[in-house]
Amino acid sequence: MNKMSQEDILTAPLAETAPSSSPAVGMTGPLAAPRPERRGFWWNILSGLRSLLKGMGVTFRYFSRPSTVVTQQYPENRATLKLFDRSRTLLGMIHDENGFHKCTACHFCEKACPNASITVAERPKPATGKPELDYFTWRMDSCTYCNACVIVCPFSVLTMSGTFENSVFDSRLLIYNLTRYAGPTSQVLMKIADPEERKRMIETRGVFSGVPLLRKGGRK
Ligand code: SF4
Ligand code: SF4
Repeated sequence: MNKMSQEDILTAPLAETAPSSSPAVGMTGPLAAPRPERRGFWWNILSGLRSLLKGMGVTFRYFSRPSTVVTQQYPENRATLKLFDRSRTLLGMIHDENGFHKCTACHFCEKACPNASITVAERPKPATGKPELDYFTWRMDSCTYCNACVIVCPFSVLTMSGTFENSVFDSRLLIYNLTRYAGPTSQVLMKIADPEERKRMIETRGVFSGVPLLRKGGRK
């Protein structure tokens, strides 16, 4: 095979300079894309009209049957807004009517979270010294709403709460403490016969206002 000079290579057509095995040049290799079929002028006009009528058919169908429309007129319909089961909204912790939760501070949700948006802080139980939930902090500013924490929780403690209007001017307000009540679980409390003793063990929590608790290596 004749050797080509640098000048020959620069001036030669691409198909001549490229190796014959290259599928990208010359479009003859096994990976070459098929050439689009050429259609006539009238075929293109009729095809465009067909697409237009198809789209308008959907519009007229919903126009004639408004009850089947799924698009919601938010925020005008805020009072009647319907969120679907798969909606990803603010993470919430389920509490019963007495303010108790079932979280055992097992940390499964914390470990499942891909971006360290959850921190489960525990403390020793006063009676037994075993760990129980102290604070449950959730960083909405880094949460991607993947739902992994809700899925892994073995006690169905976490849920997507259905609330999504949470714009704030200060991003520090996007750190939530989901623990409304941080004392023993209701099952533990109910076993204590003395109401005064039960009362002493109940500790309610308000909005989390301290320094964000982050797990080691978590996002700052
Ligand atoms: S929804 Fe996903 S990203 Fe958000 S806290 Fe749960 S696991 Fe983390
Ligand atoms: S919310 Fe569920 S998964 Fe997370 S620490 Fe509590 S019990 Fe464990």
